[in-house]
Amino acid sequence: MAGLDELYREVILDHYRTPHGAKAVDDPNVEVEGHNPLCGDELVMHLDIADGRIRGLHIDPRGCSISVASASMLAQQLEGASLEDALALKKTFQSVMKGAEWPEGFDPGDLEALEGVKKFPVRIKCALLAWMTLEQALAEYDYDLVGEVEADRDIEIVTKKS
Ligand code: ZN
Repeated sequence: MAGLDELYREVILDHYRTPHGAKAVDDPNVEVEGHNPLCGDELVMHLDIADGRIRGLHIDPRGCSISVASASMLAQQLEGASLEDALALKKTFQSVMKGAEWPEGFDPGDLEALEGVKKFPVRIKCALLAWMTLEQALAEYDYDLVGEVEADRDIEIVTKKS
């Protein structure tokens, strides 16, 4: 985390200490697990989807502060979101992690605190793990909406229920 701005470090640590999405979801539609072996990050994601929206979202992230904070921010921003908005946020965050700027007028919320991670290439997959797991989970639920998910040679994603 050396090099990350002090304010951003605090935001990340707040999410790491008390992650959003800890509450269990009754009878989820989709259960997916993601693993980033480069760092040892793992997470379990349960989604309750109804009427095209994420009605409930449970995430149990175990790993470094970046991976846990990113999963927590995902839960914070996407509970109640439409599947289209969830996918759009994933794409935007991923493009920022790969070097793009936030779109004009776009409010990234706490995700802004992770922007400094892009200066540390080995940590980018820590930040993206939850979002790649989400994309896979949504593809399991509605393939027509998401389409073919581009595999990552490092990240392992296993579907437990769909
Ligand atoms: Zn990590």
